[in-house]
Amino acid sequence: MKRPILIHPDPRLKKTAPQLPDLSDDLRRLADDMLETMYAAPGIGLAAPQVGVDTRLIVLDCVKEEGAAPRPLAMFNPEVVAKSDERNIYDEGCLSIPDIYADVERPAEVTVRWIDRNGAEQQEDFDGLWATCVQHEIDHLNGILFIDYLTPLKRQLITRKMVKLKKDRAREKA
Ligand code: ZN
Repeated sequence: MKRPILIHPDPRLKKTAPQLPDLSDDLRRLADDMLETMYAAPGIGLAAPQVGVDTRLIVLDCVKEEGAAPRPLAMFNPEVVAKSDERNIYDEGCLSIPDIYADVERPAEVTVRWIDRNGAEQQEDFDGLWATCVQHEIDHLNGILFIDYLTPLKRQLITRKMVKLKKDRAREKA
């Protein structure tokens, strides 16, 4: 089931989400819903706070080669356990900040540890777009948005645009 995505500014996007309790069918269902919501958007990553759920779960699939098999990943309690000194700049976007893109610099490679949907611990090295995406999504669990890496002026301009977008959308619905 698709879920509505919160749009910045929203206090629920600025909170640090608590660690997950034990895995449950409800949480697995949430992961499935988030993947469906992400693919439909379309997007390459989504974090639970973006659908208003205050817990440490992210989903992502950064396969972009045409015709390549999808790789839907659901990570419970993900954490970056190592990062490279080498850095990379990507033009990032976010489903909670529609149609806004900006260059963000992050470590080029990261090692991430997480619990998979079967409750097993996983660890993997990510680079390229996957590295950027997984760091962006884990940031969401700590109340950090990609615009927080921009200058205060840029951030203000974007936030103002989003306030207007939300007003326009609310008016359309009314
Ligand atoms: Zn995002």
